[in-house]
Amino acid sequence: MDSLEKIKEEVISCKKCKLHKGRHTPVAGAGNPKARIMLVGEAPGANEDRQGIPFCGAAGRILDELLVSAGLAREDVYITNILKCRPPNNRDPESEEIKSCTPYLDRQIEVVKPQVLCCLGNFAARYIMSKYGFAEEVAGITKIHGKVFSYHSIFGSLKIIPFYHPAAATYNVNLKSTLIKDFKVLKEVLF
Ligand code: URA
Ligand code: SF4
Repeated sequence: MDSLEKIKEEVISCKKCKLHKGRHTPVAGAGNPKARIMLVGEAPGANEDRQGIPFCGAAGRILDELLVSAGLAREDVYITNILKCRPPNNRDPESEEIKSCTPYLDRQIEVVKPQVLCCLGNFAARYIMSKYGFAEEVAGITKIHGKVFSYHSIFGSLKIIPFYHPAAATYNVNLKSTLIKDFKVLKEVLF
């Protein structure tokens, strides 16, 4: 049976894309393995690459504030990224890298079985929305942030919510208040 530990072991030694060359530590994911809410960011930054923990730098501090504003703590959620290794100079993920790496994310979703999937930023939103059949609705994050997309399958239902990336709020104060407002939706969607 698949498990988060198994996925992590594979990620740690993964060389499926060129990002393995420049990384220091791959960042598989962290948090509650039974979380009802899973958050998916873009890729590790410098701090994450050093410590092996997702969102442990400046964007992480904002994320913690957002969680608190929604009445949640890190222990309540599971956090990971589209890419598990840091792209050089934090450049955008390339499509080949996303293709190589997202099977890990797909497996993490299968194992955790969250009821709510939060997409942090454009890259996560695009991948996850397309995965669940909302490709048509993937407009830029400015159009879809804070909206709830419901996916139903025989295994249950899943709510998908795109958000601005918390890092964007480190240089735009208005975005931070939008994020806080959007995160409040998490209080309403848990069932
Ligand atoms: N930004 C991300 O998208 N993910 C992290 O883990 C840290 C910063
Ligand atoms: Fe493997 Fe993903 Fe790291 Fe590429 S980014 S080396 S696919 S773990």
